[in-house]
Amino acid sequence: MINQQWQLARLPASGWPEAEDFTWMESAPPKPGAGQFLSETLYLSLDPYQWGRRRRGVEIPGSVCHGRTVSRVIQSRHPDYAVGDYVFNTNGWQRFGLTGAGITDFGYMQPRQLDPSVAPVSTALGVLGMLGLTAYAGMTLQGRPMPGETLVVSAASGGVGQIAGQLAKLAGARVVGIAGVDKKVKFCREELGFDDCVSHLTPDYESRLRDACPEGIDVYFENVGGRVFEGVLPLLNPVSRISLCGMIAQYGDDLNQSPQQAWMHAGQAIFDRQKVTVMPLFVGDFVEFHQARFLEEMTTYIRDKKIHYREDIWSGLEAAPQAFSDMLRGHNFGKTLVEVTS
Ligand code: NDP
Repeated sequence: MINQQWQLARLPASGWPEAEDFTWMESAPPKPGAGQFLSETLYLSLDPYQWGRRRRGVEIPGSVCHGRTVSRVIQSRHPDYAVGDYVFNTNGWQRFGLTGAGITDFGYMQPRQLDPSVAPVSTALGVLGMLGLTAYAGMTLQGRPMPGETLVVSAASGGVGQIAGQLAKLAGARVVGIAGVDKKVKFCREELGFDDCVSHLTPDYESRLRDACPEGIDVYFENVGGRVFEGVLPLLNPVSRISLCGMIAQYGDDLNQSPQQAWMHAGQAIFDRQKVTVMPLFVGDFVEFHQARFLEEMTTYIRDKKIHYREDIWSGLEAAPQAFSDMLRGHNFGKTLVEVTS
């Protein structure tokens, strides 16, 4: 049995990931100690926040790249996990990893067992995981779109955006997506059931968005920033709400210039005039008190086919750096995952 892993090769500079940022390593897998289990990674989640961790030095060169995973237990000295169990855990960008006593890289998402009869286990990294909870928190606890209101969501076909838009639809709002290439726009309109979707890649994006929102915008779920955000600003209605989930278009910018704040400052005059409430969204704040209810509701929505989800699955751990780079450049189509054991 050989462990394969991607380690961080250097502290990344500005811009997006390059092949030189990662080193492929092979070694013997570790053995579980008391209170630990060894699991084999089935799916690895690639998320925009991982780039922020690397650029800010939370990960240091020579360490295994962090990543949430779905795995299967293959050796166990943990009282609650048996060989064969499916688990959500944080093995990182590697084939085999230890979980349990003394392993600390869990953050706010603790390991948990998964029941493959409820939903495909990969969903624990997407619609039934951190991304779903993010969308749920933004829609049901922050923005709360109501019948008759217009909700706009950016990166609308992506992991978070597709769920946020569908939750707003279920709440009775009129939903307008903003997405990139034609196939994503079509997916939002035809498969997710959004009322409209516009591309931010066209030269007349701003006027198309205005046409798609004749009554203005009451709730905006922000994932992107930059030009996408600028197009939304003049359309915000009085007493509208922004759930500020992310600004991926700025994640490659110079960290010293605090680009996200700069974009929000650009909107300040409009926020003040229109009494817009801007709510920063951090999913970790919602795990303790809302995850259980979220899982119950979202599992029911999926079982009843009221929420659809799209995954963008790459094959083999070797593909992780390329998949990660493509996702950060906006080339993914749905929640980005690597199927490690394929
Ligand atoms: P996605 O699956 O949505 O992928 C990113 C998408 O962003 C791309 O597919 C692309 O879609 C869009 N995009 C638009 N402009 C750019 C650009 N200039 N560069 C790159 N991508 C661009 O990712 P996630 O669902 O994982 O994440 C969506 C957002 O949610 C991110 O901002 C992320 O940081 C944030 N997030 C925040 C959390 C929180 O706790 N606040 C938790 C989880 C995620 P298109 O081509 O359609 O524009």
